[in-house]
Amino acid sequence: MSTHFHFTLHKTEGCARLSTFQTPHGAIQMPAFAPVGTLANVKTLEPRDLHEAGCELLLSNTYHLYLRPGHRLVEQFGGLHRFMGWSGPILTDSGGFQVFSLAHKRKLDEDGVTFRSHIDGSRHRFTPESVMEIEQALGPDIAMVLDECADPLNHAYIVQALDRTHRWAERCKKAHTRVDQALFGIVQGGIFPELRLESARFLTELDFTGYAVGGLAVGETKEEMYSTLDVTCPALPVNKPRYLMGVGAPEDIVEAVYRGIDMFDCVLPTRIARNGALLTPDGRLNIRNAQHAEDPRPVQADCACYTCRNFSRAYLRHLYKAEEITGLRLGTIHNVHFMLELMRQIRAAIAEDRFAEFRTVFLARYQISNQEVRHQQRERFLANQRA
Ligand SMILES: [Zn+2]
Repeated sequence: MSTHFHFTLHKTEGCARLSTFQTPHGAIQMPAFAPVGTLANVKTLEPRDLHEAGCELLLSNTYHLYLRPGHRLVEQFGGLHRFMGWSGPILTDSGGFQVFSLAHKRKLDEDGVTFRSHIDGSRHRFTPESVMEIEQALGPDIAMVLDECADPLNHAYIVQALDRTHRWAERCKKAHTRVDQALFGIVQGGIFPELRLESARFLTELDFTGYAVGGLAVGETKEEMYSTLDVTCPALPVNKPRYLMGVGAPEDIVEAVYRGIDMFDCVLPTRIARNGALLTPDGRLNIRNAQHAEDPRPVQADCACYTCRNFSRAYLRHLYKAEEITGLRLGTIHNVHFMLELMRQIRAAIAEDRFAEFRTVFLARYQISNQEVRHQQRERFLANQRA
């Protein structure tokens, strides 16, 4: 690990880990959650809102920034931190997931992947080398290798995709030269234990600064996701951060921390906020429901966020019903705060050796939302894979 990055494992309770990851733009207390700012912006929020919520890591999407406004423009403005006015740590994904789930007319070969932009249909190509060039120009603290995100349940396909993903990881490692940027490898292998172990072994030998578990939360069941983590986490180096990509449902975060994951990102809290779904310790609350029309209480009585300190459910419902932008913003502030507060509670529980108890109490109270959403997610993912 270069002098720009330092991972300190303070304490464990079972598989759960309390740690700090030091980056050039500050320390990240882990387990950590990163809100997603797809286009160098967390929708409806400003950097000062994120600082106020205690956010220590932001995720931005390489695929989206490459298409718009372009990585060279961001570089010209001093990189992502200066371009978007965020002084804390940033992570960018490799764009692989978007190419395989969002872009059109993908054509995959050994060297890379050619695709058409979902915005204007223009033709583009990503290779491990070009993605490293893009991420180094964007300048986040943490960059991810280019990988292929395949259907996690398709064994025959994953077997051949995995070898290519490993060769791409090697090429990314070679092409990556910025010492003030950490490069993380991504373990793939679907829901198949032997493939996950093979992937973890291969990538560990390449000696990345951190490791992600990719290719999950794309439609497998929760049980399949958890058992994949049970297999994968023990196969990863103890002295490096572990990142579960794209997972952000509160119950999944608690279960993944329990299995040894240190960091998370997800659009879920911000996306559902804009639909009027607000997170509480009891589960999601739909602020548009008629039952809130005359309710003077805040969304969550013991929440310290700006929204809960100042506004009633009745007022928020009114804003959502009237389609006022302020409603979306206040809802997003609350959901981001909820996630970061959840991580603070998780860290405190591990520090005090009561995370197992915290998990039991949290999961007993938190009402898990319908898995229907997961099935739809899978249908969409597969439809795009075929397209
Ligand atoms: Zn709140």
